[in-house]
Amino acid sequence: MTQVKPCGERSRYVVCMAGTGEHAPRGALDPWDWWRGTGELWRWGSRVREIWLDDLADEATRRATRQRRIAALIAHAREHSAFYRSHYRGLPDGCTDLRACPPVTRAQLMADFDGWVTDPQLRRHELEAFVRDPSRIAEPWLGKYAIWTSSGTTGVPGIYVQDPDALAIYAALLTTRFEFGPMIVDPWQLSGASARMALVAATGGHFAGVVWWERQRRLHPLLAAHTRVFSILQPLDVLVTRLNEWQPAFVGSYPTMLALLAGEQCEGRLKIRPRAVWSGGEALTAADRVAIADGFACPVIEDYGASECMQIAFGCRHGRLHLNDDWVELEPVDDRGRPVPPGQPSDTVLLTNLANRVQPVIRYDLGDSVTLDPAPCPCGQRRPSVQVQGRRDDVLVLDGAAGASVRLLPLAIETVIEEEAGVHRFQLVQTGRNALVLRVDAPGARRRMVAGRRAARALARFLKAQGVGPLELKLDEGAPQANPVSGKLCRVRALKAAKASG
Ligand SMILES: [Zn+2]
Repeated sequence: MTQVKPCGERSRYVVCMAGTGEHAPRGALDPWDWWRGTGELWRWGSRVREIWLDDLADEATRRATRQRRIAALIAHAREHSAFYRSHYRGLPDGCTDLRACPPVTRAQLMADFDGWVTDPQLRRHELEAFVRDPSRIAEPWLGKYAIWTSSGTTGVPGIYVQDPDALAIYAALLTTRFEFGPMIVDPWQLSGASARMALVAATGGHFAGVVWWERQRRLHPLLAAHTRVFSILQPLDVLVTRLNEWQPAFVGSYPTMLALLAGEQCEGRLKIRPRAVWSGGEALTAADRVAIADGFACPVIEDYGASECMQIAFGCRHGRLHLNDDWVELEPVDDRGRPVPPGQPSDTVLLTNLANRVQPVIRYDLGDSVTLDPAPCPCGQRRPSVQVQGRRDDVLVLDGAAGASVRLLPLAIETVIEEEAGVHRFQLVQTGRNALVLRVDAPGARRRMVAGRRAARALARFLKAQGVGPLELKLDEGAPQANPVSGKLCRVRALKAAKASG
């Protein structure tokens, strides 16, 4: 929904409802944004220097830096977070051993949000009201924090607060670590006068990627004229037309969306010439990587991040994801929390974010299955690399009203049901070519039925707007069914035949 651009009045922004042409007032451009932008550049510069020094350091120095940061984070969490003080009450005073710290889950942390955060001015009920208002995306909270939300596979919505240092570290990692390769121009040139950037994303809420981009635009107005956010909720043909008009030199999106767009490019409807595409937010399969790179005839840059830590790993030219292990600890573990050796896929992974102090993430159960690569990468990067079998629901292929197939991204469907119906735990299963079954989770049969009807109405409106033909949409009174082995909930499941052709 948020395609933000400066309008006639210099001091105001408007939000264009992508695909609808609607406009809504965005609020005054805060002159403090300029000041904050300058301050952030200083912080970014000092973090870039730190990262370069770490890249040049020997293994022993790197280990010592990491251990110092871990010890400082544990001490900070015990001193300033009531949640961690209680959670770590069995640990000896001054404990610096990360492996001794009991893991945490999103449900645990969100249940005690006000105790989790280390700034007592942060209150869950105020932040919940803030994130309900899409016109406030990327507005700094308390003048300094970035706020974003995520639902994830567990169905428990999360609210994430990033402090200015963490934001500067993510930006520094982003600009120093990614290997852009000889085929791509220097990333700085991408912000030049002739280069345009497009982010194609779920834009209905305060999601991390959109908040990040919008924040950069507010802090650096010169960049704003060259970046545009496109909603994945608009029909594909409309999106293709808009991208053809915009002619971006750089496109960032989810692999499922990039694969759809690469197909449009191959068939001649999409006519853009990006110098690079950026894939993130979902797992990128080897087949999709090839299809996207071939479709656009440009390199695919991969990113592994999460709402809990934006920069977990960076892609290299050999298609591996190298951990930012100076700022992130990632522990692949089995279903009983025991370490999993390199070469074997984990059941889940424990994440520790060493960059963010305001909302400590320490041994947090992220839910992704990752495999540590046992052999060093041919690119020469010394930091360990991982393969991620992360969250990835199915693309639905339905018959369109006009005859042709309509492909629908799982993230678009999930955004509609979450944002328009307020339902986070649900499952949509395709049972026939144009037949879908929807299950939702809510306490009690009556609330489940009310939430289900609300979700079904939002979904039906969305499907019609996408050009889907006559469809049977059944509301099932049963609860969503999680995978009996992994416990994960696949929220959008396609027919096997549709999967094979999609
Ligand atoms: Zn590599």
